[in-house]
Amino acid sequence: MSVNRTMSEIATHAVATECSRESDQGLAPIQPGATLGVVGGGQLGRMFAIAARQMGYRIAVWSDEAGPAAECADVSLVADYSDVAAGQSFFAQIAALTFETEKLPLDLFRRVPAGTPIRPGIRFLEMSQNRLREKGGLQAAGLPVGPFAPVRSLAELEAGVATLGTPAILKTASGGYDGKGQIRIDAAEDLDQAWRSLNTDEAILEAFVPFVDEISVVAARDVSGQCVTYGPIHNTHRHHILDVSYCPVDLTADVRRRAVDITQRIAAEFAVVGVFCVELFVLADGRVWINEIAPRPHNSGHLTIEGHATSQFQQQVRCLCGWPVGSAEQLKPVAMANVLGDCWRSGPPDWGSVASRWPQVQWHLYGKTEPRPGRKMGHLTATAETPAAAVESVVAARQVLSHRSNEL
Ligand code: AMP
Repeated sequence: MSVNRTMSEIATHAVATECSRESDQGLAPIQPGATLGVVGGGQLGRMFAIAARQMGYRIAVWSDEAGPAAECADVSLVADYSDVAAGQSFFAQIAALTFETEKLPLDLFRRVPAGTPIRPGIRFLEMSQNRLREKGGLQAAGLPVGPFAPVRSLAELEAGVATLGTPAILKTASGGYDGKGQIRIDAAEDLDQAWRSLNTDEAILEAFVPFVDEISVVAARDVSGQCVTYGPIHNTHRHHILDVSYCPVDLTADVRRRAVDITQRIAAEFAVVGVFCVELFVLADGRVWINEIAPRPHNSGHLTIEGHATSQFQQQVRCLCGWPVGSAEQLKPVAMANVLGDCWRSGPPDWGSVASRWPQVQWHLYGKTEPRPGRKMGHLTATAETPAAAVESVVAARQVLSHRSNEL
């Protein structure tokens, strides 16, 4: 099996002529007072709703289960995404539609009335829903991704391992997140067992990338094609979940330029209108490869709320409504630490100590009642004179928050 041939076979090359209603460029911006729709009810939808309300919009959230966004919405629909009648009455109330997760059925968007803008568009969403489509589409557009192979059977897994070598990472093509649906394949791996345990009929095998840094760039592109970027933002993960992000990052000018250039090219190539994030690997020799795209605001971009002139959520509102993008100027070095359910392990978090000892730390809670280990409950942000000082504040505050002050 030739990896290249297979790549071109699967490359859908989501086209520049984005299918969404980007022809609505000439339409007047949607004015405050209108109702904006968001599909998905998690914390990203909640922070979008908060930004939208601040800007004078009403918010309608459609989620298939109760979640944190509804609390901040004017209209909340909890219904299966296949519910056509519920969708019709939801769409009738909104002036424009966005989404806060990519794990959504495309059919829902195909039922949206023709005059209602969907931003970003359906093709960009579709590409990012499937790792094979995404990597194939990016590669076909000449954008840098690591070596990969499609896997739809044990034979293809064996062929992929023979071509790419080990270690490698086998991931479900769709549906995985935060490291779920992933298996590291080492030389001695029982491939039959690995393939069966993934329990899928479509996967991607990726060569293990020996990255020196993981970074992301968040972008906002408006209807006129003007695109601003945030970052690169530096990201560290724990147990595959984002742990700490900070910005600015000490990178060479070349690496920085490559990361921003890749992001701008994705925005233009796929005619994105809205906010998206590109997660990138930085290699020791300065090459930058795309890991994945999120077609929406991203956890690493939460630090833009305090760190930048316009937050990623305000940009989402601006782009959705047809306004020009706002300034992405960074105001101060900034860091963010996620607060997971684990912080509740030794009892309710110690917010009092955080408030009194770290006045520079802001906390955000998503209104989730059940603090399960690994569940994103909120995040902390700090600005400081240097990124290192900002990281130190959020990490120290989080330790005290979760009664782990002895680890300081
Ligand atoms: P993902 O869900 O694809 O973003 O993967 C979660 C994390 O696993 C990434 O942030 C990386 O730390 C690691 N990872 C994913 N893919 C690779 C790869 N091909 N090589 C090395 N590490 C990877």
